[in-house]
Amino acid sequence: MSIFTAPAFDSHELVTFGRDEATGLRAIIAVHSTALGPAVGGCRMFPYATEDEALHDVLRLSRGMTYKSALAGLPFGGGKSVIIGDPRKDKTPALMYAMGEFVHSQGGRYVAAEDSGTGVADIRLMAERTPFVSGMDDNEFGGDPSPSTAWGVFISIRAAVKHRLGQSDTKGIRVALQGLGHVGYYLAKFLVEDGAQVIAADVNQANVDRAVADLGITAVDPGVILTQEADVFSPCAMGAVLNAQSIGQLRVGIVAGAANNQLATETDGAQLKDRGILYCPDFLINAGGIIDVHHQRIGSADTVKRAHIDHIEETLAQVLQQADATHRETNLIAESLAEEILKSARDRALAA
Ligand code: NAD
Repeated sequence: MSIFTAPAFDSHELVTFGRDEATGLRAIIAVHSTALGPAVGGCRMFPYATEDEALHDVLRLSRGMTYKSALAGLPFGGGKSVIIGDPRKDKTPALMYAMGEFVHSQGGRYVAAEDSGTGVADIRLMAERTPFVSGMDDNEFGGDPSPSTAWGVFISIRAAVKHRLGQSDTKGIRVALQGLGHVGYYLAKFLVEDGAQVIAADVNQANVDRAVADLGITAVDPGVILTQEADVFSPCAMGAVLNAQSIGQLRVGIVAGAANNQLATETDGAQLKDRGILYCPDFLINAGGIIDVHHQRIGSADTVKRAHIDHIEETLAQVLQQADATHRETNLIAESLAEEILKSARDRALAA
């Protein structure tokens, strides 16, 4: 992969590679921007087929974190890290210690938190080697920010339903949910409690069984979740699910989910718009987790944290209104809003 010309590079401040022979660690840390503060972002562990794939992923995720934190009004920049490996087979305490040392070597410019393939226990191991970690303090969910992410996505679905269908709750709304992991499970719970009808799929049967038993959702095969006829499609598994092929198959009016980088390419936002599908930008609506991490760091009361997460709804409403008024794609409007916030921060820094 050529780095400097890659669209995902987008003037990253730092991209660094970590290798530890003894533990088998192969990791990349990407810091897109520290204009608003240290780059806080998840540490993902995934069995990437190639190093290029890992690099592409970390660059896109890191840039998304810059926008996410800016729109959420957080004093954080944007960064991310990836560990190349299968979390079910390759993850050991020694590997997480080595990752902690790699994070520490960046001197606090990057602060790691949990992500797909890592959890609170892994972050606690890293914390034995570096103070530059977050998202492991006790909160009402034992430190896991995923329920907060799920709440932010839930209120965003509700806001999108209101915007599109004029209904102020999700009662009777059909939601096709892809992925019943840390976020998807809680999102299904909030939806079911609000009266929505949840049809869901996961490649991990244990996660399906748990959601069916606890919440009474309807399970379908992972291969057909994307083509379900529903009001909302909610991607909560992996990125790049919205591409030239899949967008043509969607049978929903709204897409709103937790997964990062749902659009395979920037132009896929235009495709969704052309099909009349209302897309709620992922980096705007899945910010609940990073907001939770921030409030864990500063020791806020749960009510303060919840009020901050609830603000996502207002920002989304602003984006949807601007999209209606300007006929532009929602993802581009959300990016422009974030860029304005970053520009103001840079201007303030220059003036100081
Ligand atoms: P997770 O790994 O706990 O859950 C993902 C689930 O998706 C797993 O149960 C997995 O089996 C399932 N899955 C994988 N491939 C699938 C497929 N093809 N079809 C159906 N299911 C599939 O991860 P998570 O923490 O729940 O996060 C979900 C998504 O949201 C990720 O993209 C993550 O980056 C993003 N996200 C998470 C948070 C958070 O707070 N955890 C915050 C922001 C964004």
